[in-house]
Amino acid sequence: MRKVYMDHSATTPTRPEVVEAMLPFFTEQFGNPSSLHQFGQWTRAAVEEARDRVAKLIGAESEEVFFTSGGTESDNMVIKGVGFKNIEKRGHIITSKIEHHAVLEAVGFMEKLGFDATYLDVDGYGFVSPDTLREAIRDDTILISVMMTNNEVGTIEPIRVLADIAREREIPFHTDAVQSFGKIPVDVEELGIDFLASSGHKFYGPKGVGICYMRKSAQHRLVNFVHGGSHESGKRAGTENIPGIIGFAKALELAVADLDREPRRQAELADMFYRGLRDAIDGVELNGPEKNRLPGLLNISFDKIEGESLLISLDMQGIAASSGSACTSETLEASHVLTAMHCDPVRAHSSLRFSLGRENTEEDIEYVLRVLPPIVEKLRSVSML
Ligand SMILES: *Cc1c(COP(=O)(O)O)cnc(C)c1O
Repeated sequence: MRKVYMDHSATTPTRPEVVEAMLPFFTEQFGNPSSLHQFGQWTRAAVEEARDRVAKLIGAESEEVFFTSGGTESDNMVIKGVGFKNIEKRGHIITSKIEHHAVLEAVGFMEKLGFDATYLDVDGYGFVSPDTLREAIRDDTILISVMMTNNEVGTIEPIRVLADIAREREIPFHTDAVQSFGKIPVDVEELGIDFLASSGHKFYGPKGVGICYMRKSAQHRLVNFVHGGSHESGKRAGTENIPGIIGFAKALELAVADLDREPRRQAELADMFYRGLRDAIDGVELNGPEKNRLPGLLNISFDKIEGESLLISLDMQGIAASSGSACTSETLEASHVLTAMHCDPVRAHSSLRFSLGRENTEEDIEYVLRVLPPIVEKLRSVSML
């Protein structure tokens, strides 16, 4: 049976070039970068070289790039780091209703410790409006965290505008850019942000490694929350994940090199897919914006269909998509993102996310367009909705 993976927003396969770059660091190059002998100094040099490369690729300075275990840790590092810096007076944190759970749960934890939080509303397409942010800011606001690109519906937020508002009020601004890497350009200067989270496995790098960018002028705004040795300039203790770090840098380099054609190719495939679906079946609607959206990601509602049933039927035909976000797929609550976009619960439950990637071809789309419409027809014929 044909296998068609359309869940790249959940994770991606590691590119062979990346695996190859990583391999020596499991075996010959195994030294601990904190060691003073040659074994350690070789890996120290490799880590710092990877840091320099990553910094250059995102418009940062090397001292502003910190390696972490991934997107979740980077988000936690900023939110809890800034929170604990202000632990005596507490304060107010602003985020949006459509963030990844890595941000929402970290902010929720700070609320339990006595901090206030505002979760910004979004419009029907998932956009945070600059006015909504302006109105939410208080004298005691210590941090604003709004994601760059939404993982469920693909909305690209107006980060520059939002970050400028934060800067006017001298409030540090964090963005979860995990879904942006490899799909749209990411330049920390152009974005005007202070903190940024990224994760290797979302752009064909290895799992379990990411970065947290911290602007030099904002580094005093947070405290370290993983204590131990003085790794990562004291911002994150723990012996570095050397193969992961090397893989992250390699994957980013490859992703940036492909930026001028691969995202466009995926956007065209997604377009072909969406048009094909609309031609073949009634009651097909796109969730999220038409413009300012991530290439290759489609969140689609199928009228009178239960998303999970469609997901399972597709899986039996070798097609992998996702319902809601991967992290919440075990709960039956409607997606918090679609709910915040005022999508009614029935429509939210009838939606699937298809996220395309490098390996997807026109033949894949043709296959899915052959297989999916009859499944929808069959499910509708037995549907109670
Ligand atoms: C996947 C994802 C994360 C979590 O990253 P991990 O490296 O898997 O911890 C955070 N934010 C967004 C938007 C994501 O898509």
